[in-house]
Amino acid sequence: MAFTLPNLPYALDALEPHIDTKTMQIHHGKHHQGYTDKLNAAIDGTPMEGQSIKSLLRSPATAAVRNNGGGFYNHSLFWSVMSPDGGGSPSGALGDAVASSFGSFDAFKEKFAAAAGGRFGSGWAWLIKKEDGSLAITSTPNQDNPLMDVADEQGTPLLGLDVWEHAYYLNYQNRRPDYVSAWWNVVNWNEVARRFDAAG
Ligand code: MN
Repeated sequence: MAFTLPNLPYALDALEPHIDTKTMQIHHGKHHQGYTDKLNAAIDGTPMEGQSIKSLLRSPATAAVRNNGGGFYNHSLFWSVMSPDGGGSPSGALGDAVASSFGSFDAFKEKFAAAAGGRFGSGWAWLIKKEDGSLAITSTPNQDNPLMDVADEQGTPLLGLDVWEHAYYLNYQNRRPDYVSAWWNVVNWNEVARRFDAAG
């Protein structure tokens, strides 16, 4: 059974002006579609066919699965943790955990933005829940993610930010920090909280 490109949970222009329509069209319709198609090609006719994406990513068997399976998973998560009704700050158990782990929500944002800005070249910044239940901020290169055994720090991704140039270049050119600042306005904390609760 092949993986399929998930539909966006909002219109292509819904995240304007923070994320522009053209970037969303290309990012979802071309880049994410490409990762999906190449992942399917990489597992087609192999024993990997039929495995869950998380199972494929734990210890990726090939570079094609690592890059394209990571791309498939990471972008599926990315669309879901954004919303035109997003922004603000997390409440409830997640809000408490963020405050106690990082000192305050503002301190969390600062550390997360530093992880996003400090990733040289292409990659992702993450908020993860580790196996011991603690929260951590980490970053991965390319399409790696914290589910992979090759990641510096492993855990369940709760929030991910794509810092590949294809995610922001049309609107922000080389100004990655401006993209990161604007992105907070569309973060879907309800979905991040759901993932936090589901991670046990
Ligand atoms: Mn991307």
